[in-house]
Amino acid sequence: MSETRKGMLLVISGPSGTGKGTVIERLMAQDKSLVFSVSATTRAPRPGEIDGVHYHFVTDEQYDQLVADGAFVEHATVHANRYGTLRSEVYQRLERGENVVLDIDVQGALNVIASEKEKVSIFILPPSMKVLRERLTGRGTETPEAVERRLHNAVWEISQKDHYEYKVINDDLDECVRTMQAIIAAEKHSSAYYSVEVPEE
Ligand code: 5GP
Repeated sequence: MSETRKGMLLVISGPSGTGKGTVIERLMAQDKSLVFSVSATTRAPRPGEIDGVHYHFVTDEQYDQLVADGAFVEHATVHANRYGTLRSEVYQRLERGENVVLDIDVQGALNVIASEKEKVSIFILPPSMKVLRERLTGRGTETPEAVERRLHNAVWEISQKDHYEYKVINDDLDECVRTMQAIIAAEKHSSAYYSVEVPEE
């Protein structure tokens, strides 16, 4: 049997506080075919974040230059900071057959959904707005104003959920990860990505 797989572009969004980061970490730890697209951002690193691993941390000037150079697949301002998906993180890897994970906000995802013919888009939802508020408050990393800003954004973000091919509720982390794995496993067999020749014998 001769099989070839093209790389899959996996677009994952969800409001801040849905546990998207943890879900993506778990998926990546369990499926070595997934590679993370490291975005450029003007936001300051949080404790423990490593330049080049979590983000490429850039100055406003460097970010402007990347925009001018056409280096981004998409870029957006999120919670008062700027973020962009670098072409260099995406296209060569897809050519090599790697499955590229974009952890991007809804504005950016809607642009990618509109511009990329082949992609798999998944929206991660909180079980309720009450739980979302509790998670945002509980993480203790945000000021009360930032929590309110994130909740306000979440209402708009959730209103865009039907533009995604898949929606998954993160009520139970294990179950959410299992569902995402099932979607990815099925999509790997989509004719958009998967070619197979059946031999004579
Ligand atoms: P954080 O600052 O908490 O790491 O991320 C804030 C938001 O920015 C998250 O929703 C994250 O998915 C989004 N984000 C991260 N990188 C990108 C990117 O390259 N483009 C866009 N549009 N959003 C991004």
